[in-house]
Formats: sequence, structure tokens, C-alpha cells
Amino acid sequence: MRILVQKFGGTSLATTELRTRVCEIVHANRQEGFSVVVVVSAMGRENAAYATDTFINLIKEVNPEPLARELDILMSCGETICGVLLANQLTAKGMKAKFLSGEQAGIVTDGNYGNAHIRYVNPQKIKECLQEGMVAVVAGFQGIGENGELTTLGRGGSDTTACALGVALNAECIDIFTDVEGVMTADPRIVDNARLLDAITYNEICQLARDGAKVVHPRAIEIAMQKGIPIRIRSTFTDTLGTMVANQAYQLDEPVKIISDRLITGITYNSDIAQIKITTGGLGEQTGIELKVFKSLALAGVSVDFITVQPKAIMFTVHSEKAGKAMGVLQTLDLHPEMESNCAKVAIVGAAMTGVPGIIYKMVEALAECNIPILQAGDSYTNIWCLVKMEHMKKAVQALHDKFELGNK
Ligand code: ADP
Ligand code: MG
Repeated sequence: MRILVQKFGGTSLATTELRTRVCEIVHANRQEGFSVVVVVSAMGRENAAYATDTFINLIKEVNPEPLARELDILMSCGETICGVLLANQLTAKGMKAKFLSGEQAGIVTDGNYGNAHIRYVNPQKIKECLQEGMVAVVAGFQGIGENGELTTLGRGGSDTTACALGVALNAECIDIFTDVEGVMTADPRIVDNARLLDAITYNEICQLARDGAKVVHPRAIEIAMQKGIPIRIRSTFTDTLGTMVANQAYQLDEPVKIISDRLITGITYNSDIAQIKITTGGLGEQTGIELKVFKSLALAGVSVDFITVQPKAIMFTVHSEKAGKAMGVLQTLDLHPEMESNCAKVAIVGAAMTGVPGIIYKMVEALAECNIPILQAGDSYTNIWCLVKMEHMKKAVQALHDKFELGNK
């Protein structure tokens, strides 16, 4: 049996017309001899009637700190509604189809509400569907904890469902259908001349995704990579092939081409970051303070990123949501923290940049040419990032994209 897992994001499913397009895609693949498993997200984004955020706003009206277990049950409804509709629409178009919840599809997770990890997959019911010639329509983003409670998989959860099913069913390919042409050198909403990457390694896409490219979730890629199942990231609205994520395929009688990671794959950004700075008295005094700072933040459940410790200052970033709490903790310690609340991290990402001279220089030059102050910076083997004010983020991403000549000419 040749199996395709095809995941459709919220914007691809938002209206009856769009879902008709989805039905056509599924039909075309069945005509080619594939058994199709469709994984759905909730319909639409942000203010859409049955979007996940709408449900979250609804529950927060009655309780600003919703019960975690009940919140997961509510959040999972968007995928259920969408999947039930799509299964009916496929049936109305003459294909046999069946809807399966995360639990029915055999997605078993840990008990971590809101951000559960998949422990294992038991795809028995899906296999039965496919054997009967049906399309299996599976609700993404949801699973069942080993204690029998419904869980959700966190941001990008439907991507994760699709990749886990792709691995469990040994699919020929996992298609992630979305509202852009594929993986590009930068977010096309920010950079007009962003270029489509036809092919990309698992390694490269993982790095882009971890550094903020929201086109696919890194956890999903890590799962598909375990069995080397190819992923195509492509547009629901056009017939183009998008981006192929795969290990190198080769023919036995042909020379084996070694693909390597690009020097720079793309530019990413992360917003909703606050930077906090504490001025200290200097060496000696500081050791005690940094210990106190990070211990108190840890006890308060505030996760800290990008730490820079200097002889006379400690700087770090937190997610905007936690900024108020972090400031409160530091004020009680009488440390007079200063905060820059609206920041963004922009990064150049690429696995082969280590040891290549001049990259940091070019990055700093690009930002200086646009008069964008760098608030903090850092690097790893696979990226170099700078913290900038949110109001400079778009300009910074575009400037870096231009400087490294990543765009369409
Ligand atoms: P879906 O609802 O289909 O899962 P997402 O919003 O999660 O869609 O992901 C698609 C979005 O990812 C695009 O609309 C695009 O704005 C954004 N994006 C960010 N970085 C990139 C990138 N490097 N390449 C392509 N898209 C990107
Ligand atoms: Mg997504």
C-alpha cells in the first residue's frame, strides 16, 4: 500500500470553497494509486469562528487562568469540527471517508496538558480505514495521555501529528500544505523578494524552524527525520511542488551526489521578547547577584534566554508574557532592573557558517547601514543573532536578506 499523509493548515481549510480544493487534491492523489491520510488543523486564524484562539478567548472571559485539562478539551474542538466537516465533504464528492480523533488515530502522549509530546502511535484504526479504501481524516494537534485524558500538542501540533503518522504508517511522503509556496529564504510576509528553496536538508529546516521560521514545527521535522520520511512543504493554492525535505536519494548506477548544508539558509525572526538589564557594582559583588537573580527567576517559573553577563551588568531576555513577573521578582530583590519591552531577535541561519570569517562583520554592517542599534548579540554553530527593537525588526530582516544576497534577483 502506497500511503501519503497530507496535512492542511488553518488557512487552507477556512471556507467551504477552500475545502473543496482540498478534496480535489486528495482525489487526484487517490487517482494516482495512493491511500490518503488527511490531517487537519482548526479552520482559519485568529478571529475565525472555530479557530483555536477564539476558543481560548472564550474560556479566558470566564477564567483568566483556565483549568489546564478543560482548556485542552476546548482547544481540541477546532480540529474536530474541521475534520468532521471535511470527512463529510469528501463523502459528498463521492470518496469514502471517515473522521478519527487523535485518540482514535492512536496518538498516545505524555500527560503534559497544552504541550504534550507523542510517546507512541498505534495506527490500527487508520490502517483499517485505508484497507477499506477510505480516506482517513485525522484531527491534528490532539492526542490521549496514557492516563486516558485528552491532551493537545502545543504550537505546530498538527505538523507533529502528520509527521508521527507518516513515520508510524511508513508513508511514502508527508505533505504539509500551507499558505506559502514552501520554505523560503525569509518569511515572505516580511521580505518581498524571499526565494523559494526547492530542496533543503532536515538539518537546515530544523534550524530555521527553531530560530523562528513558523512554516513548520521543529518537533515535527525531528520525528520525520527518525525514519527519513520525505516531507514536502507546499501551497494549497497552487500546483507547484514546494520545498522537498529529504535525505539524499540516489540511483545505484549513478554517482552519488553529496549534498551539503548551505553557508546561509535564511533569515529568521522572533518577536515578543523583552530585554532586562541589571547594573551591578563590578567584579566580586556580581557573583552573588547573578546567582540570586537566576535562582529567583527559576523559582518564579520564568524561563530566561540569551544571558550576557559582564563585569558591571547582567542582561537577559524573557518572553513578553513573563516580563512583568520577572520585573516584579527583581524589584523585590531591590536590584533596580531596567526593561526594553518590545524587542525582536533577528538571526542568520546556516549550518556551514562556522569558521567562515567575515559573517559577523557583514551582519553588523547591514544593521549599521540602516541605523539599527544592536541591543545584544550571540551565536552558535548554526546561527548568529542580534536583538533589536521590534520597530526595527522588518527593516533588519530585509537588510540582512539583501546583504547576504539571498533573494530573487
Ligand atoms: P499553517 O496554518 O498552514 O500551519 P503557519 O502560519 O503555521 O501555517 O505557517 C505558514 C507561515 O509561515 C507563512 O504564512 C509565513 O508567513 C510563515 N513563515 C515564516 N518564515 C517562513 C519561511 N522562511 N518560509 C516560508 N514561510 C515562512
Ligand atoms: Mg503551522
